[in-house]
Amino acid sequence: MSRVRGWCPGALRPMESGDGWITRIRPHGGRLSPVQTEEIARAARDHGNGLIDLTGRANLQIRGVTPDSHAPLIEALRALGLIDADIGAEQRRNIIVTPFADPETDGLAAKLEAALAASALPLPSKFGFAVDTGPAPVLQDIPADIRLERGADGGLILRADGCAYGTRYHDATEALALAEWFLAQGGAPEGRGRMAGLIARGVSPPDAVLSPAPALTPPVPGDVPQGILLSVEFGQLKAETLADLAALGPLRVTPWRMLLIEGAVSVPALPGLIAEPGDPRLRLRACTGAPGCRHAHAPTRALARQLAPHLPEGRVLHVSGCAKGCGWPRAADLTFTATPEGFDLIRGGCASDIPQLRGLPPARLPEVL
Ligand code: SF4
Repeated sequence: MSRVRGWCPGALRPMESGDGWITRIRPHGGRLSPVQTEEIARAARDHGNGLIDLTGRANLQIRGVTPDSHAPLIEALRALGLIDADIGAEQRRNIIVTPFADPETDGLAAKLEAALAASALPLPSKFGFAVDTGPAPVLQDIPADIRLERGADGGLILRADGCAYGTRYHDATEALALAEWFLAQGGAPEGRGRMAGLIARGVSPPDAVLSPAPALTPPVPGDVPQGILLSVEFGQLKAETLADLAALGPLRVTPWRMLLIEGAVSVPALPGLIAEPGDPRLRLRACTGAPGCRHAHAPTRALARQLAPHLPEGRVLHVSGCAKGCGWPRAADLTFTATPEGFDLIRGGCASDIPQLRGLPPARLPEVL
């Protein structure tokens, strides 16, 4: 089994971190049955350190896996239908499905998944698809290279990320043809590259003239037509909490580090879950930090919780263990980036942007806020 650093992990190809191997699970169609959820929770306890991350690509990650526990973990996940035929198939099956999917959307996602599994396209590891064909697009701010969406006329369109317009969509062969076009245009020299980068170089797919429907704002925790959306503090759950959720109904995994419990009308208060849209923890972002990440210069999440009462109303605070900014790879109102000399403050930028203040000790951060 290979271990690869600095690369998008999968289940078959885990990534090493400060607390062991990270093993990523890609739920089919973004759904987990109660049995799958319960068994993932059990596997995280038995073969990992009992912590499960929700990722920005609507995946789950079991943390703390070891060289000895990885093989039995894969067997447990294989029995749940969550393991692909090989690493290539796992890498290609990089699909985010809107959690507000209707049966038509579920069918479109399943056909795209099957077409990708049957293909041998050498797509870059981060190259992905979004199936965003619910009542209105909700995934336009979520990274994806090829988007299947509702057009402004209500019909289905296929759109290259970065391109304002798409083409009429009929079946999955068209999505694969767009991926082939990306490769043929030189979108992935040396196996790396993204669609938006190719489009930014002035290349456009032929016949792209159809506008997507206007996007909705990202959802907040609370009631939705399909059930109840719950946010997860810092996107990390304990296995016990996941097992408790399994008893409440099937889950839909979202790219906003929220879980949709299908058909639920009420949920009990569970540790680390956020059910209220006004909860101030929704304005905190923090990566794994020390000691879970070997690149971190300081702990992050406990510090973010301590700083929450000092955070001005309506502002988003990001505490990052290093300049990579995994916990929020975009601008925040206030970002503290840990460095070997202390914390840098960046206003209105990303963790790697030029700071306004440098080398702050943790004790000074409340006053700076
Ligand atoms: S941002 Fe956080 S999780 Fe990402 S590499 Fe840096 S310390 Fe690790």
